[in-house]
Amino acid sequence: MEVLWLNRTEMADPVCGFLVRWGRFTAICYRTLPEYRALLDQPTETSAPVFRKIALGCLRSGHYSGCRHLHFEFSLTGISRSCTHQLVRHERFAPINQQSSRYVNLANADFVLPPAIAEVQEAAAAYEAALEQSRRAYGEVRRALEKTGLKGEPVNEAARMVLPQALMTGLNLAPTFEALVNMSRKRLCVRAEWEIREAIGRMTALVAEAIPELGRHFGPPCRFGECKEIRPCSR
Ligand SMILES: Cc1cc2nc3c(=O)[nH]c(=O)nc-3n(C[C@H](O)[C@H](O)[C@H](O)COP(=O)(O)OP(=O)(O)OC[C@H]3O[C@@H](n4cnc5c(N)ncnc54)[C@H](O)[C@@H]3O)c2cc1C
Repeated sequence: MEVLWLNRTEMADPVCGFLVRWGRFTAICYRTLPEYRALLDQPTETSAPVFRKIALGCLRSGHYSGCRHLHFEFSLTGISRSCTHQLVRHERFAPINQQSSRYVNLANADFVLPPAIAEVQEAAAAYEAALEQSRRAYGEVRRALEKTGLKGEPVNEAARMVLPQALMTGLNLAPTFEALVNMSRKRLCVRAEWEIREAIGRMTALVAEAIPELGRHFGPPCRFGECKEIRPCSR
């Protein structure tokens, strides 16, 4: 799995990045209109620390409405269709685009190997045999359809039905900060599957490394004393 933070440069910038833009948007709440306009007219070097301070105050008190227009853009590749199926459940505050298996011929696609299967030789052999079978069927279905004169999209969309959930794919995801916090609560918990845990863990780690003030807000509910699981893991 590869996780890239596409707009890191813009978002992590200390003078015009996430925290400053959040504060600039929210400052209107705390100033008279002439004061607010005067603040906007100041050079960025003067206004940025003021905006940043306002954002950090909102962050501390959980007033997130002023950063809902800002999205962290990530590109995740080499993850399974099974994992992206879970990720798309979070689309409400995180726009998503995913590699299409209708527009793209996946004859050379790869598959994800779950660690639990990799550790057991017999399971790994059965898994590899099933993947090989689906690769073969994908090619055979394609060739049979192409013989009838079909090509491109209708062939891809029919043949893809034989591909397993392990299919490696790519997905771009742009959560707001609040959405990312919510995802970290749900998906960094040990109840979540290993692959989505890794995906969200890598995204939040990237943000935490670049903007440490945000990093403290990511994590499973138990880190914040909020676990509601019927059978908690007792960590
Ligand atoms: C361990 C685990 C197991 C799961 N197993 C299953 C399963 O077996 N089957 C299954 O279908 N799903 C399953 N899910 C997915 C789960 O039900 C959610 O769909 C998914 O986690 C998305 O989270 P979310 O509801 O916070 O949605 P998001 O889209 O991320 O929403 C973010 C937040 O917005 C608010 N919100 C969203 N929609 C509304 C609304 N309509 N009205 C009011 N507020 C709203 C909520 O506060 C929500 O938390 C599982 C998730 C986890 C973590």
